[in-house]
Amino acid sequence: MTKSMRAWLASLTLLVGTVQAAETVVDDNYLANGGDGSNWPAYGRTSTEQRYSPLDQINAGNVNKLGIQWVTELANERSLIATPLAIDGVLYFTGSYSRTYAVDARSGKILWQFDPKTIEHAGDRLRIMWDINRGPAYYKGRVIISTVDGRLVALDAKTGKQLWEAMTVDPRKSYYVNGAPKVFRDKVIIGNGGTEHEAARGYVTAYDVETGKQAWRFYIVPGNPADGFENKAMEMAAKTWNGEWWKHGGGGNVWNGMTYDAEFNQLLIGTGNGSPWNQKLRSPGGGDNLFLCSIVAVDADTGEYKWHYQTNPGETWDFNANMDIVLADVQYGGKPIKALLQAPKNGFFYIINRANGELLSAEKFGKVTWAERIDLKTGRPVEIKGARYEDGEELVWPGPWGAHNWHAMSYNPDTGLVYIPAWDMPGLYNDKGFDPAKWQSPHFKVDPGVAFGGEDVPKDIGQARLLAWDPVKQKKVWSHDLPPVWNAGTMTTKGNLVFQGRADGEFVAYDATKGDKLWSMKLGVGISSAPITYSIDGKQYVSLLVGWGGGGTILGSLAAQHGWKYKMHPRRLYTFALDGKQPVPPSPPPAFAQPLDVPDFKIDAKLAEHGKDLFARSCLYCHGAGMVAGGEAPDLRESTIATDRNAFEAVVLKGAKLANGMPRFAELTTQDIEGLMHFIRLRARETK
Ligand code: CA
Repeated sequence: MTKSMRAWLASLTLLVGTVQAAETVVDDNYLANGGDGSNWPAYGRTSTEQRYSPLDQINAGNVNKLGIQWVTELANERSLIATPLAIDGVLYFTGSYSRTYAVDARSGKILWQFDPKTIEHAGDRLRIMWDINRGPAYYKGRVIISTVDGRLVALDAKTGKQLWEAMTVDPRKSYYVNGAPKVFRDKVIIGNGGTEHEAARGYVTAYDVETGKQAWRFYIVPGNPADGFENKAMEMAAKTWNGEWWKHGGGGNVWNGMTYDAEFNQLLIGTGNGSPWNQKLRSPGGGDNLFLCSIVAVDADTGEYKWHYQTNPGETWDFNANMDIVLADVQYGGKPIKALLQAPKNGFFYIINRANGELLSAEKFGKVTWAERIDLKTGRPVEIKGARYEDGEELVWPGPWGAHNWHAMSYNPDTGLVYIPAWDMPGLYNDKGFDPAKWQSPHFKVDPGVAFGGEDVPKDIGQARLLAWDPVKQKKVWSHDLPPVWNAGTMTTKGNLVFQGRADGEFVAYDATKGDKLWSMKLGVGISSAPITYSIDGKQYVSLLVGWGGGGTILGSLAAQHGWKYKMHPRRLYTFALDGKQPVPPSPPPAFAQPLDVPDFKIDAKLAEHGKDLFARSCLYCHGAGMVAGGEAPDLRESTIATDRNAFEAVVLKGAKLANGMPRFAELTTQDIEGLMHFIRLRARETK
């Protein structure tokens, strides 16, 4: 290089240094390739959902110097499960009930907040939902959020002002929405959940990102043939159903797991389980029940069906395929393949050719007892007799919580490995006493069509792990046993690192290749969010929301053993950098419920039994299996409200705690109230 050239280059650098960095235009092109890594513009960083960053300033060699740069207190928050976005030095994320924040990533200062007033909108739907939200989407200066009560809301990224909102579900039904919307080609798409508590028919809807006007809708399962089919795909799907499935909804709800595949201009949809779970009730006589538990590819512009692969034909275990779908270029059979990778609940890891939906390989990544293997010729599982609980009660691995749930896995193209927050945990299935002729779909209650007694979940059931998996060789490369269940999603970087927050509140960095634990920090409460990384002015940061929540809190003692009690431990946004010097702010130690016995209370066994049934259908979702609360809501065994008839009625019948998210159950009878009070006293006495 000549001297003058060098001087010219230096002057250019100076010039760039003084000019305000240009605003990033987050469009399809940017979302597909993700730029230079300075931003984290989408849920999975790029539309590939890889959760991989090309930044390597923080790396396996220096991550031991990682420290806290700043901490933002989020005093009103409870469940923090979102993946934040980072665009041009601003972090965007959703907290409980989709309250939305923009935070200056340099200082941690909150720039704006938006409250979609979810509780006010939700009405009775508060009964079947948590407060969780997996995060926003960002597109061309707009932040788009979903709300648990079923809306999509577009906000101006600069001001947080609402631009439009669209209702995406029938508010008379107990559908909920908690997934991150996805954006592509000037559209934003969202699905919904509801299979456990409604005659739910799943679908996804795409809206115009500028106006909120509906662009297209794709139903996952067919409706009543008498009403006519929406398209040829539904006509085809209807041939795989029996009975009057539409009366029970059918299910297939897409509450997570949508990936825009720019290379084929298709949307890949991971579909849900049946409504109800039990196929004998849902589709008597069997059938594959398309498109339950499938990956369905539809045209991104029209929503027209292209191809599908079904992971669980005739599903009957809640083995949905709603887990994140990762796009990757892999060498397979000596050829480069544009593949998708998925580790759905059912315990098999799938590689599928996204050009045509062809299954390339599927192998067990955890303990699986419902199927021997997946037959690659037919693409169908070879099921094990008895697994469909056809002969009575059956213990099946995995259970309804899956071998992997919504906590996202990441894929590192440098190591070629995926990092899966996995666990082995069984489920006990039994449908004795369920009569297909009489069973009715629930409505704002939980009833999956199999026994759901609401017993406590033992502390030591199963084993959670962080699993580094080679998707091409289909084998484990390394793994770490983790504290019980519900550990958060992973993030991986060019710095040969994997980051993960854990249920016990520890945030850990591992060597991505070998799995060595290189750095960790205890952050004072269970972590349920995946971390992100980005850079500002050439300096790399890692940010993480720290706040326990998101479904796993239902798991009784299994969840409660960590001691993250309702409203006790602060919720925070942490940002880390090399040589960050801030201390971990104080947090109370883990705490456990102290069941309250009322010695002169005479428990009536019959009333308590009635209360147990009510509890399992209406209360357990938040207050925990076996009435052992995992942190989502108060533990009723120690509640003084539950010892005072007037106070209890004020909360349960009249909605005195509505603002906290406790729904009103105005229809409960005197017998119901007494039943609940007797069951609460029984559980308190039994567990004191
Ligand atoms: Ca489900």
